Amino acid sequence: MSEEKYKYLLSEHDLPRQWYNVNADMPVDPAPVLNPKTKEPVTPDFLSVLFPMSLIMQEVSTDRYIDIPEEVREIYKLWRPTPLIRAHRLEKLLDTPAHIYYKNEGASISGSHKTNTAVAQAFYNKADGTKALTTETGAGQWGSALAMACNFFDMDLEVYMVKVSYEQKPYRRIIMQSYGADVYASPTDRTIYGQQLLAENPDNPGSLGIAISEAVEVAASSGGAKKYSLGSVLNHVLLHQSVIGEESLKQMDLADEYPDVVIGCVGGGSNFGGIAFPFLRENLKNGKSTRLVAVEPRATPTLTKGVYAFDYGDTAKMAPIVKMYTLGHDFVPAPIHAGGLRYHGMSPQICALYDAGYIDAVAVPQPETFQAAIQFAQTEGIIPAPESAHAIRAAIDEALDAKAKSEPRVILFNLSGHGLLDLSAYDSYLQGHLIDDTLDISPEQIKENLPEVEMG
Ligand SMILES: *Cc1c(COP(=O)(O)O)cnc(C)c1O
Repeated sequence: MSEEKYKYLLSEHDLPRQWYNVNADMPVDPAPVLNPKTKEPVTPDFLSVLFPMSLIMQEVSTDRYIDIPEEVREIYKLWRPTPLIRAHRLEKLLDTPAHIYYKNEGASISGSHKTNTAVAQAFYNKADGTKALTTETGAGQWGSALAMACNFFDMDLEVYMVKVSYEQKPYRRIIMQSYGADVYASPTDRTIYGQQLLAENPDNPGSLGIAISEAVEVAASSGGAKKYSLGSVLNHVLLHQSVIGEESLKQMDLADEYPDVVIGCVGGGSNFGGIAFPFLRENLKNGKSTRLVAVEPRATPTLTKGVYAFDYGDTAKMAPIVKMYTLGHDFVPAPIHAGGLRYHGMSPQICALYDAGYIDAVAVPQPETFQAAIQFAQTEGIIPAPESAHAIRAAIDEALDAKAKSEPRVILFNLSGHGLLDLSAYDSYLQGHLIDDTLDISPEQIKENLPEVEMG
């Protein structure tokens, strides 16, 4: 038996020098981003209340490649390039002819891919003179990544953390505080919006949409001292995540294979866009035909059951209106454990590409997702983040489909994070408490609360 190869590693020297900007190759025209009050296209002035000009320029750039600043590359080197692993032991368990590879973003120093954009956003804010950032966090992965990055660049950070998570998941709060961030349970009495909500219901458990509204309000009313930072959805966030796919291309090359299918879970779309867009470029420019599959929970089926329409990015209607697949800005998600996948909307770039048929989407139920996570943990040894487990479920389904058809298939999925701080989710699964919470919602119900926009 010839010796099997497991890890495909790159050296620091192979760390990408540029991010890939899918806007340069978009086969479909993006819809304009609208001001939530006037419903007219946003101006850079409106956005500059929240973001530094350098990130606004990246948001609208159509340059194919954007240089990664040396200061950012130096910090990336603390954990990048991340390993690409061939999941031999999972393949054997499934007895499949498919080859399964995964990119391990859980190897990052905060435990997920979110560090890739956190470091970049902190760098550009610092360079533009921002004194402090505000942000929201659900389960806490984004908050911990940004807390680490702000600490490296010596900037203050205020994190509005969804109250139920703040109370039920203290560990990530402690991580953020260890990096020096101030963490508040949202809704807070620090904002007008939070005060209103607390007056109506002092026990409001909070939601990601509410926490976004609070973080936006604090930055917008700070007279320029504080800016706001978002961990997903926006074009510049997906841009920063493209290092995942660029490294994967080189590593698949080392393995002397090319993926037939690339899979990632989608909350706001950043880790999926990060791994998939460089492969989309190869499809569009270099005659490849890799299937790109976005995986979401059946409890928040944004792409598979949402409507493609203009909607607000947040609950309080303060964030810009964008055209995206949405479950409605007032959607209240089931309290599933994959906190990072509960957002009502999705990256407009991913939505446009999905609508035009360039990417596929599937929705998977919770119990089957955790079953896949356990199979992965028991074969590959890594406890995956509940979010990443959705990608594993879809990868296993691909491998079983290849087996049923007795055909070879090269599968690559993104392991967006590890789950060592999500053990209560595993506990619920192991005790049989996880239920199939497939969302029952009709397009008519979603459309009831969407903003009226002329250009629909
Ligand atoms: C936040 C998060 C996600 C979902 O966000 P995307 O922007 O869709 O990538 C997925 N996995 C992990 C581990 C996360 O922390």
